[in-house]
Amino acid sequence: MKKTEKQKKQPFDFAAAVLVWFDEHGRKHLPWQKNTTPYRVWVSEIMLQQTQVSTAIPYYETFMQRFPDVQSLAAAPVDDVLHLWTGLGYYARARNLHKAAQVLVHDHGGEFPDTVEGVAELPGIGRSTAGAILSLSRQQRAVILDGNVKRVLSRFHAVAEIAAAQEKILWPLADEHTPHQRVHHFNQAMMDLGATICTRTKPACLLCPLQTACVALQQGEPTAYPGKKASKVLPEKSVSLLMFVNARGEVLLEQRPSPGIWGGLWSFPETAADDAVTLKQILRADWAIGRPQLQCLDKRDHVFSHYRLHMQPVLVRNEPLQVSERPQRWCTLDELPALGLPAPIKQLLSELAARERGKS
Ligand code: SF4
Repeated sequence: MKKTEKQKKQPFDFAAAVLVWFDEHGRKHLPWQKNTTPYRVWVSEIMLQQTQVSTAIPYYETFMQRFPDVQSLAAAPVDDVLHLWTGLGYYARARNLHKAAQVLVHDHGGEFPDTVEGVAELPGIGRSTAGAILSLSRQQRAVILDGNVKRVLSRFHAVAEIAAAQEKILWPLADEHTPHQRVHHFNQAMMDLGATICTRTKPACLLCPLQTACVALQQGEPTAYPGKKASKVLPEKSVSLLMFVNARGEVLLEQRPSPGIWGGLWSFPETAADDAVTLKQILRADWAIGRPQLQCLDKRDHVFSHYRLHMQPVLVRNEPLQVSERPQRWCTLDELPALGLPAPIKQLLSELAARERGKS
């Protein structure tokens, strides 16, 4: 018997399913979802690149109070921006925000360009972030493909290629699914789906609006996609952090070169030497300290995306006579100035402050 039109299987309407889900379950009350200007969306997108929503919220609110618009961000010293970023990590994001704000003010009259290509030319903004800015703030039809969306689409279509090859396949699919109406809701929903339902290790397929057509689910192993990254063994690096404390109880901080790890942030001067004899030689030769008084404190590690850093903090109770080429400043431990500090250095400073208080 011939099937009627109604009986024929309807193609799965991806966008409609996602939008229905969004209306009921999508996130709609996050701080950056109020007053959605391109500036506010941009800052949130950059913060969320490597940071969980719950961690980003207080940082975002403080950032917006201090820099309510692109003009105030462009006019601020980069140290102020890095200071507000302290603890979020991946500080190149903050430096690029600051640079891009200056480009926007100087070259674009403080307004964002109106094309994805134009926005993606700004420092630190890729194609997907540009798409998110234009769609979420101006409701322009722009496609996004961030990590969350990649995971959803690679599972839905069972695309298991790796890295660049996978992106080549996924961008056209993302474009195909992105609707012309309610694009801001659709893009937000796709990010939410990836973050809350189609998660990396435990996708909640039973709650997913795409479950009836998801190929990875039909195959029975959703987490086989987007494919495993080859696990890499991180290289290791060791440094000694020289924590100079002078007779007034102040500590010496030095600004790190930019670009580079913790570029533009303030830290302790450092050296590769780690044994007491060599350290003393270096303190004499490089810092002109006649009788170095040093004490090695507990070692600690910090893992960056591309290497593991072993840090040996060394307390040096001398004031060096030699001046380094890098910007330096003596800071009181009770009230540190508003500088950008990497989280492990901030932690060491608070331990040092407690130690010095205990001494007095
Ligand atoms: S059905 Fe499961 S694997 Fe497929 S998109 Fe939804 S959550 Fe991800």
